[in-house]
Amino acid sequence: MKRIIQIISGLEGYDPDALRVDKAREAMRACITPISDTEKVPVRAALGRVLAQGIVPDINVPSHDNSAMDGYALRFADIEKPLTEIGTALAGKPFSGAVGSGQCVRIMTGAVMPAGADTVVIQEVVKRDGNRITVPPGQKRAQNVRYAGEDLKIGAPVLTPGKYLRPAELGLISSLGIGEVQVKRKVRVAFFSTGDELASIGTRLKEGEVYDSNRYTLHGMLARLGVEIEDLGVVRDDPQALEAALRKAVKADAIITTGGVSVGEADFIRDLMAKLGEVLFWKIAMRPGRPMAFGRIGNAYLFGLPGNPVAVMVTFYQFVRDALLHLSGRQDDYAIPLLRATAAENLRKVPGRTEYQRGVLFRDGGEWKVRITGQQGSGVLRSMAEANCFVVLEHERGAVKAGESVSVQVMEGLA
Ligand code: AMP
Ligand code: MG
Repeated sequence: MKRIIQIISGLEGYDPDALRVDKAREAMRACITPISDTEKVPVRAALGRVLAQGIVPDINVPSHDNSAMDGYALRFADIEKPLTEIGTALAGKPFSGAVGSGQCVRIMTGAVMPAGADTVVIQEVVKRDGNRITVPPGQKRAQNVRYAGEDLKIGAPVLTPGKYLRPAELGLISSLGIGEVQVKRKVRVAFFSTGDELASIGTRLKEGEVYDSNRYTLHGMLARLGVEIEDLGVVRDDPQALEAALRKAVKADAIITTGGVSVGEADFIRDLMAKLGEVLFWKIAMRPGRPMAFGRIGNAYLFGLPGNPVAVMVTFYQFVRDALLHLSGRQDDYAIPLLRATAAENLRKVPGRTEYQRGVLFRDGGEWKVRITGQQGSGVLRSMAEANCFVVLEHERGAVKAGESVSVQVMEGLA
């Protein structure tokens, strides 16, 4: 296995003491090999999984030319003549005869186009007198007909390996009559919190303690990402305890720790991680979330996140999410979209780091605006809970004036 430092030091602009956000993300991707194990699952269970096979139709969808509307199927060449209705075509109950000259068939949406007919006229516009109909001018040849293979064509690949499977893909796969698909196995992630000051829920807080919240935000973020989770609890700031926890965690594909990577604390962790694997300690040019560790212990990738609760969430969304999706084998574009909105207030910012302020995106008339959720300290988790977006203030950017345009990342999508 190639050493991480060998891979990373080849990246242009790699500076571990002032690492730009995009460089850190690029470095992680470069070092992570996607998992290769696959499994076969029924279509429903494939939701949220990564496709590990190509999908090539062996039938056309739709399988026959059919009507897109309720109306009359006819020969366009006859459209100016009065026509005689000779039968009915329903979805699933085709008309068995053929439409001859001067004839038409009553047809419903999805019904197979009868032989001889090439055009459908919607029922609302025709004049009817018994079984005779007349069609007003202004129709077009082949209108309202859906052709065989118009959606999916025999032999033309529709999904490729690495595709993330959403409801639309489940529908597409089932429209081909496919009941099971090969997907990547789920990524397994183990995580724990470090800190002597941390108390677990259910115990009484002693002087100077805080309840551990990072394991709960991590649980939530990882669960939404669809990975398998192993929560290893709170680990004391103690080399032996930490070593034991890491040895347990290496069975996973990835390990996430929080706390203990800041300058004052990192020393024994650094030594320990160096002993167990290859871990790099970075200072990232970002706020919140400056210190971070990344590396490999055994076959597991390690993400050592800062301890502050907001920093954990920000570094997770900006790095770990991307790294885990890469690890999962996804090959579609899963970068979080950056949208533009107008700053509703002045924002403090200094050039030289990327900031992820917590914002509320709202509509003001026809315009999307964004304001900040009060105090932006990296320990103020309320700033996350009240937010519906990150305001992403780019590396070079300085202070922002109300009315300027800023980038935002929306926290929720279609669920
Ligand atoms: P550290 O990075 O370990 O120096 O921690 C930075 C700050 O985050 C300290 O104020 C910690 O008390 C706090 N912190 C660390 N881990 C957690 C946690 N799991 N839950 C809540 N706060 C934490
Ligand atoms: Mg700590």
